[in-house]
Amino acid sequence: MIEICEFCGKTYKKNLTPDAYLGDNCFDCSFWLKKTCLKPEDEARKAIIKGFHYMIGGEGYLFRGNGGKEFHILFHDGREVRTMNLWEQGEIPEEFRSLLPDNAQFIPVEKPEQITFDDFEIPF
Ligand SMILES: [Zn+2]
Repeated sequence: MIEICEFCGKTYKKNLTPDAYLGDNCFDCSFWLKKTCLKPEDEARKAIIKGFHYMIGGEGYLFRGNGGKEFHILFHDGREVRTMNLWEQGEIPEEFRSLLPDNAQFIPVEKPEQITFDDFEIPF
């Protein structure tokens, strides 16, 4: 059966499991529209930075997002999160940007200062 997506107007077939769709929207639209109505506990883990959508995973898992690289995220509401488990869901398409505006920014991860020998005076 052919469906018409409410959001983008494309015709599509509902051939995936019902929970892949949000209402009568196509899969692509459902993917992003679902992110506009997350459960509160997931909403708190959602970071949108420069139009890219990320989810902050829990710590202590074997498989980590971004290979376990460390990120510091400053949310516009003032929360600051350090994570080594950041998952990127991709760039938010233009038509969903107004529904999913940026809510955070990356702040640089401070590294321990590198000691180089140039900094030392040779005392002889
Ligand atoms: Zn659609």
